[in-house]
Amino acid sequence: MVIELDTKLTKQVEEICAARGVRLTSQRKRVFELICANAKSSSAYELLDDLKKSEPQAKPPTVYRALDFLMEQGFIHRVESTNSFISCCSCNAHKHFSQLLICDQCGNVVELQDDNLIAKLAKNAEQHGFTITNHVIESHGVCKACSSK
Ligand SMILES: [Zn+2]
Ligand SMILES: [Zn+2]
Repeated sequence: MVIELDTKLTKQVEEICAARGVRLTSQRKRVFELICANAKSSSAYELLDDLKKSEPQAKPPTVYRALDFLMEQGFIHRVESTNSFISCCSCNAHKHFSQLLICDQCGNVVELQDDNLIAKLAKNAEQHGFTITNHVIESHGVCKACSSK
């Protein structure tokens, strides 16, 4: 079931890249697949270790370049507080800011998109003559599965 979903997502990402005229190299694609396959957020070094299984010549810059590309295209998000990466829940969407719910017990990360929240934050900033260009909204705690254990 998981594999089916990944294939679908990868296919979607391939189509978006083709439409945008950007190149989804096999390494970029593989890094995206690895991020999707991991239920938790993935660190660059975990990704490098996994990537080496199929691409033994992969080096840290290989992974960082792939991550930069995937972030630029909006396919993945960086989890700033844990310095790791997750796939975006709506990679076809326009650039967006999300609230991330990070479980400190199992490492699961859920992405929420709440336009009202973002609008409220923008409004608060506006009252101070401040224009927001980037958000890091990360909430730490315990997920439903872990709290019912
Ligand atoms: Zn997203
Ligand atoms: Zn959890």
